[in-house]
Amino acid sequence: MDLKQYVTIVEDWPKPGIRFKDISTIMDNGTVYKYATDQIVEFAKEVGAEIIVGPEARGFIIGCPVAYALEIGFAPVRKEGKLPREVIREEYGLEYGKDVLTMHKDAIRPGQKVLIVDDLLATGGTVEASAKMVERLGGEVVGCAFLIELTYLDGRDKISQFPIKTLVSY
Ligand code: IMP
Repeated sequence: MDLKQYVTIVEDWPKPGIRFKDISTIMDNGTVYKYATDQIVEFAKEVGAEIIVGPEARGFIIGCPVAYALEIGFAPVRKEGKLPREVIREEYGLEYGKDVLTMHKDAIRPGQKVLIVDDLLATGGTVEASAKMVERLGGEVVGCAFLIELTYLDGRDKISQFPIKTLVSY
């Protein structure tokens, strides 16, 4: 299946000059959504994932069905102030300024094999911050998987030490 034909490009959103890749037209088609999920499930099996970690919000959309299919757990990465219990935090660079991601302190067991899943790899800042938190919690990042990779932003350079799976490239 050619997944790319189900990605909708939205010009000048959220600001002028950005060509936003909208995955809602993958999700609203059950066959296509399952096909995309199944590719990442296969990768998760290959790398021996024991838990999926996904950043809000679209990382949940891809990561949770993968966890469900494998009958393993899912741990969320969230913006600051969203998780109710004790967290660790990691700052990461945005185009202008900084943002903060958090995870619950007990989200990962020491030695647990973690696959990080998100919809899209752009600069790699989000996944790099997520990987740092997983490692600080004692987890082992066994891979990173994305529906879409914006190759011209070289995000994979930030996570080159891990196996990477992407399904559609621009
Ligand atoms: P990065 O941290 O620069 O790699 O950006 C990746 C994050 O930004 C992911 O969590 C994506 O959901 C989001 N993102 C950036 N660009 C797009 C896009 O064109 N479509 C959907 N999500 C995007």
